[in-house]
Amino acid sequence: MTPPRHDARNGAAEVLARCAELDAFTAAPDRLERVYLTPEHAGANRATAAWMERAGLTTWVDAAGNQWGRREGSTPDAPALVLGSHLDTVPDAGSYDGMLGVLMAIAVAERLQETPLPFALEVVGFSDEEGARFGKALLGSQAVAGTWDPAWWELRDQSGVSLREAFTGFGLDPERVGEAARRPEQVVAYLEAHIEQGPELEAADRSLGYVTTIAGARRFHLRVLGEARHAGGTPYPRRRDALVGAGEAIVAIERLARASDCIATVGQIEVRPGAVNVIAGQADLSLDLRAATDDERDAMWDRMRAEIERICAQRGLTVEVSEQHRASVAPCASWLQEVIRTAITTTGDSEPMALWSRAGHDAMAVASIADIGMLFVRCRDGISHHPAEEVREIDVAHGIDALERAVLGVAEVWHADR
Ligand SMILES: [Zn+2]
Repeated sequence: MTPPRHDARNGAAEVLARCAELDAFTAAPDRLERVYLTPEHAGANRATAAWMERAGLTTWVDAAGNQWGRREGSTPDAPALVLGSHLDTVPDAGSYDGMLGVLMAIAVAERLQETPLPFALEVVGFSDEEGARFGKALLGSQAVAGTWDPAWWELRDQSGVSLREAFTGFGLDPERVGEAARRPEQVVAYLEAHIEQGPELEAADRSLGYVTTIAGARRFHLRVLGEARHAGGTPYPRRRDALVGAGEAIVAIERLARASDCIATVGQIEVRPGAVNVIAGQADLSLDLRAATDDERDAMWDRMRAEIERICAQRGLTVEVSEQHRASVAPCASWLQEVIRTAITTTGDSEPMALWSRAGHDAMAVASIADIGMLFVRCRDGISHHPAEEVREIDVAHGIDALERAVLGVAEVWHADR
């Protein structure tokens, strides 16, 4: 007998109400801020666990503070299809980045409660995706992927608390973090629903899209060196102005990126000596560079670097470059892209839109132990990491339908493979 189905719109309304309920777990009364290993992290885990239990899942918090729920498949101890996203936020966050994907996953588990599946179904709320507290992103999902780096224990937050101390304060044992790691044979696949955090779906008037790949960023520190001199007494031919050179470099970076499919951002600049009547002798800039493939990104960096060096040489400046971060692109498995694409078509979109994710996600970390797939949900004006983040109930309703259909799609592939 087919179990009674919830009305799709009602399921979405409940997901949105729960997103709003999670807003209460914040470090500040007037804005949303929920970072790793804090009382508000524990509170969000508890609320999420209660919803998981209502969906028929058995819950636990793992050795890295991630909240899990699981129901068994038709055979006990079968590997699990994992659905999830993250429960932590940036400071002054919106209500949907991360949380929406966790709560949609719980809604799907609830709907499938009476539906037999050949694998176990798990939902995870990752504890730290944003890296807002310790400056290192994806801590929760990297623990699950078994890629935890012991060097991270000495990372400190703004109050000087080390990651090790924060673990202990949360009631976790740093020596046991390895127990959070899952083995590849325990995971069928990982599916993550997430707001798009960009404007493409809205521009194309679509509720949903499927992700082809998650960009891996490269981040650089650029130091432009000139000569600090008197602002009045130094004529132009004698100047080696590091700030003007840096300004020209920033414009060139944007020009090159705009003419390509890459996206580049200079988000920080610091000038020395930084006085009103002194020519800048040094300018330090950050550069964040992303593309759909590592090759495109690396080729763009080679061009940018050559152009920055040319600009600096023309002005008698030198430039020093150091790479701060480099992550490889994480492709979504082609079979999961197809499963999600097909699932979206059941919501009335006959030609679902493919997108590459310019933002990082937990799925990148999970990719080292399992095939990954991602479903994007339209968000208003592409706004994210901001309290004005907004989603439409109809899009969430379609998203829950598609995610449920994708779980059944994975089960079909699983059967066909056996
Ligand atoms: Zn996110």
